[in-house]
Amino acid sequence: MNEKNTDVLIIGAGPSGCVAASYLHIEGIRVKVVEKSKFPRFVIGESLLPRCMDHFEEVGLLECLQDCNFEIKDGARFIKGDAVCHFDFSKKHTKGWDYTWQVPRADFDKALTDEVQRKGVDIAFEHEVVDVSFATDGSSKTTVKDKDGNLETINAKFIIDSSGYGRVLPRLLDLDKPSALPKHSSIFTHVKEEKRPEGTEGTLITFDVVSTETWLWVIPFSNGNTSLGYVGPTEYLESFPGTNSEKLKAMIRLSDYYRDRFKDSEFLFEPILIKNYSKSVKQLYGNGYVLTGNSSEFLDPVFSSGVTFATESGLLAAKLINRELNGENLDWEKEYSDYIKAGVAVFSTYVNEWYTGNLQKLFFHRPENPEIKEQICAVLAGYVWDQSNPFVKNHQRLVKTVAHIIDLEDIENR
Ligand code: FAD
Repeated sequence: MNEKNTDVLIIGAGPSGCVAASYLHIEGIRVKVVEKSKFPRFVIGESLLPRCMDHFEEVGLLECLQDCNFEIKDGARFIKGDAVCHFDFSKKHTKGWDYTWQVPRADFDKALTDEVQRKGVDIAFEHEVVDVSFATDGSSKTTVKDKDGNLETINAKFIIDSSGYGRVLPRLLDLDKPSALPKHSSIFTHVKEEKRPEGTEGTLITFDVVSTETWLWVIPFSNGNTSLGYVGPTEYLESFPGTNSEKLKAMIRLSDYYRDRFKDSEFLFEPILIKNYSKSVKQLYGNGYVLTGNSSEFLDPVFSSGVTFATESGLLAAKLINRELNGENLDWEKEYSDYIKAGVAVFSTYVNEWYTGNLQKLFFHRPENPEIKEQICAVLAGYVWDQSNPFVKNHQRLVKTVAHIIDLEDIENR
């Protein structure tokens, strides 16, 4: 069998793998990426958060994305019946980027891999990791299969598993753990919009809350297509009869706001159903490997945190590996696991409290409290490590407490 050597092997060329590869390459570390698919390939995860702009900028991947003219996302709109809550990323507690993009991921991920390759990183497309074995010193032998079925071995000092839904190391090392979040699923597709509403209405990203636990996303792209997806408890989604197309059409009809806009829209592909999408793992790292992005943890699409966590964790993992390969002794528990888990914990609270309805009370309560809104906006922009933000520092207590105060006010006003 053909054998190759590298310092760091990265599994998967999504945003997490690309950011990690770019960083390590800049630092002069030998890195190789293996990617199962041929790019461009479809993947879901089209609404980004401002925080990920920091990551792309730091590793020299921002310019190639700026050249793509993706639709600007400078906030997000949530609708529930007649109530509207619009977050503006320029009005947030934490300093940082006030815009990002709404992206067809096939184009976005291709732009990233093109640039990473142009910088000189070796990416092997259509190469699937099928097996990994670790020695006691953490070095590894990875078996990779190409599209013709040929096998090769890659020897590495360290593996970054950025394999997303492939979850390569969680599967091979039995690291999967049931998510603590309720079982939710999603069904989605793209439509071509021949006649979009004029102005920002046509391009605004919106989450239409159809019921406390179910919602429709509308993510317009600059290429004239729009992503539509419906999310809710798995059992509820399964209760819709028919094909995925018939199910999604029926779900779109539940949206008072968007029913007419999309009633004649043709789906560009048969809607895809992802069941029970929340994932978790027993540990985020081990001897000779680290899990980043979706191969570690995925919560829920409601706050669009997936890609940002993928790039945050990919970049941090790459920085730590660089230090370790340069002879430093690291505390991975503190420097990687605790840090990533702190951010995940904030978003977990927001996701949980979204589906209990508590967070929706904060979003749709009138009059708005501008200070609270700016603090929540910083969280929704992905700045979830800023301890100066009370809605980060006291996330577990504060959302519940403010929702309770709103309930009391409502009782008084009756
Ligand atoms: P990916 O982008 O999935 O990339 C992983 C790569 O690894 C893939 O290219 C794959 O081909 C490759 N791979 C897999 N197995 C192997 C193997 N054995 N060998 C080699 N390569 C392999 N996130 C957002 O930020 N915004 C959103 O709006 C959003 N919406 C979502 C909606 C739904 C319904 C769901 C389920 C998720 C959503 N997400 C969203 C999450 C988002 O999809 C992921 O968080 C994001 O794509 C993770 O990036 P990644 O780099 O970790 O993995």
